[in-house]
Amino acid sequence: MNIGTVKTAAIWARISGPDQQSLPSQVAEVKEWLQAQGFIVPMERILMVDWTSKDILRCPEMQKLLSWVANREVEVVGSLHLDRFAARPGQMSQIFDTFKDAEVQLLLKQTPLPPGLMGELMGLVITMGKALSVERADQGAKKGLHDRPKIHRVPVTYRKPYGFIWRRDPPRLEPDENWDTVRFICREGLAGRPTRALVRKLKEMGIPSPTGNPEWSFQTIYDIFRNPLYGGRFYALRSEAVEPTHRMCNTYGRSSQRWLPFDQWEYLPEVKVENAPLTWEEWLSLQRRRTQNKLMAKRNAKHDYLLRGLVFCNVHNRRYKGHAEKDRGYAYVCPVEGGHGFYFHGYINGPRLEQTVKRIVTNQVAMEAIWRNDQPDTTEESLQNEMRRLELSTRTTVNGMVELERRSLSPELEDERYRIKPEIYERLKCQYEAKLKWVSERKVQLQAQLNNLKRRAEAVVKLNSIYDRVEGKLESLTNQEWRDLLLELGATIHVTEDGFLEPRFELHLGPEKSGAIVSSVP
Ligand SMILES: [Zn+2]
Repeated sequence: MNIGTVKTAAIWARISGPDQQSLPSQVAEVKEWLQAQGFIVPMERILMVDWTSKDILRCPEMQKLLSWVANREVEVVGSLHLDRFAARPGQMSQIFDTFKDAEVQLLLKQTPLPPGLMGELMGLVITMGKALSVERADQGAKKGLHDRPKIHRVPVTYRKPYGFIWRRDPPRLEPDENWDTVRFICREGLAGRPTRALVRKLKEMGIPSPTGNPEWSFQTIYDIFRNPLYGGRFYALRSEAVEPTHRMCNTYGRSSQRWLPFDQWEYLPEVKVENAPLTWEEWLSLQRRRTQNKLMAKRNAKHDYLLRGLVFCNVHNRRYKGHAEKDRGYAYVCPVEGGHGFYFHGYINGPRLEQTVKRIVTNQVAMEAIWRNDQPDTTEESLQNEMRRLELSTRTTVNGMVELERRSLSPELEDERYRIKPEIYERLKCQYEAKLKWVSERKVQLQAQLNNLKRRAEAVVKLNSIYDRVEGKLESLTNQEWRDLLLELGATIHVTEDGFLEPRFELHLGPEKSGAIVSSVP
């Protein structure tokens, strides 16, 4: 045997919880697999750890492994599964970074990833890890926005709906000069007139769109159809802002909207809508008709487009449509022509886009496998305990304030020695107020964390069932199975202005908002 071709491998075996394969058996399985590929595994390069914390970088053996990698003392590192590295995503990205920099390969016997995708997955995790630090900040802002309708019972914004005008004290909506038009639109929709015909009719009637355009867009009409205030009920929080990307370039910070399901909308019966064009029952029946129309349209589609309805153009805020081509297969096409810039992503080769999306989803499933073993930093119990301590602290502070007022103001305190001097009074009062403010802010944070834990627990259950079903089979799923997987993960693909694909997943465990720009549109 030519000694020059034999490469040295290290093995990383780890137990992080109960029900995991024993360390020696992990090592045996990986060792045999590596040797079959022509690697040698010296005894001293085998690391076995029983490490439950997800703070994996504190583990001395992990530090040892990373130093071997960084110094290129080994050519590859073998392990049973990606989840043996389970760490905070930020730490995961540091680990992957070390491998990438040293060009040392990570070989995983059981991870359902074709080997070539490993590098891509690493890149994705590194990107997400870096994005993590900027994600926490906007939680607070979002919460404040939600407080308005939930606690104060007022709309989030007083954006003017078409055909109505806001009046204050109490907040209510009254018809304006466009009321007849909006009533006409709603009535036509209820009667089942196709949107295309309605657009033509409005143009004939010479009625400009809300933005003053002679031609109404389908989107404007749909927005009217799905706005419940035209059925006489005002709902707040129908959508939430989502950060569109995890990219680090100059467009960072632009946010877009995500529609929430109906049961999460916040009904504000206090806000009266005068002369709604539809009754509530009529509005509901309009919604049912629209859902049915969509289903029919899908059934009549000629080709079974895997990504139908799931690819969005960020420039025009529209969904790409499947488009069959004579003798040339099929494509996904933005319904709006032009305005797509240099990369011309208004038109994307169908099979190639589907292939890319499958790879993105494969990566995501593998990442979920890492994250599902990740225990949250806090438990519900510890959060509830802190909540109780805060309640107690509120009471103590309020009592303190009452006492302070008594001792500074009461004329019955004859004895001057018990009275508090004005400057001390001011200082103490400020301290108490600051304390109360802090406590109430902290409570809001805790509530958000509690909600997050709940969301996470539900997601783990769903993801585990998905994972059990598709593990190792991602390469052989049928189109229908892929479609189901995409829908279950709540996956959508957004094509950015500069020609990148940006996946988003509603069901996920990792960083708060999932998604990363993966590749330029072919
Ligand atoms: Zn477009």
